[in-house]
Amino acid sequence: MGRVAQFFNALCDVILPPICHICRNFIPNAGTLHICPDCHDRLPCAASPLCPTCGIPFAGAGADHRCGACLTHPPHFDSARAPFLYEGTIRDLIHAFKYDRRTHLRRPLALLILEGLGEALIEQRLDLIIPVPLHRSRLRQRSFNQAALIGNLLSRRLSLPIMPDTLFRNRPTEPQINLPAAERRQNVKGAFTVHIPEHIAGKRILLLDDVMTTGSTMDECAKELKDSGAAAVMAVTVARTAR
Ligand SMILES: [Zn+2]
Ligand SMILES: [Zn+2]
Repeated sequence: MGRVAQFFNALCDVILPPICHICRNFIPNAGTLHICPDCHDRLPCAASPLCPTCGIPFAGAGADHRCGACLTHPPHFDSARAPFLYEGTIRDLIHAFKYDRRTHLRRPLALLILEGLGEALIEQRLDLIIPVPLHRSRLRQRSFNQAALIGNLLSRRLSLPIMPDTLFRNRPTEPQINLPAAERRQNVKGAFTVHIPEHIAGKRILLLDDVMTTGSTMDECAKELKDSGAAAVMAVTVARTAR
């Protein structure tokens, strides 16, 4: 870093002291993420060994291998990845972002995806980003689509176009997290439609959401995208449940 940039960063720290998004403590030399090293070390990572298809992590050591669910019912997406488990501080951050409308948290959440999955996303040679859509009634209620807000930042950082109006949720659905696993597939069955399939024909798609639970929503979206001609679908979320 040049001396002018160093001086400018120090000046910014004085005028706008960087505060950790999680513990609210002041962070010297904060960088752009604004999560302090202690909080960063304690983030609940979803690390290997995991299922290379749905991304679910396994307890203990060993190599990545397909989980029983993906072997018996292979999903329509090619792979699903989340850098974190949906628990602890990550769940708190996502809650604050989504339900307390602290929309500035889109930035650390997008940066955490890039930090954890950036290389994998580049390797996938993706063509465009599609955020999982909300039904218009929920969009009115919340006033923003959390996946689209994170997607806008990823779009700029990865230089990929984002198409928030291509996939459409044609009926309201109960939030998956409120339902027993067995009812989740039925809840989202047939809930999505692709507008203008020509936009996605032959494309490799980054399908983006904030949280993945059983993967039924991602699977249903991926089915619709593949049926409409998409070449590949990589499902990406900030966090996933351990199932
Ligand atoms: Zn902290
Ligand atoms: Zn799996």
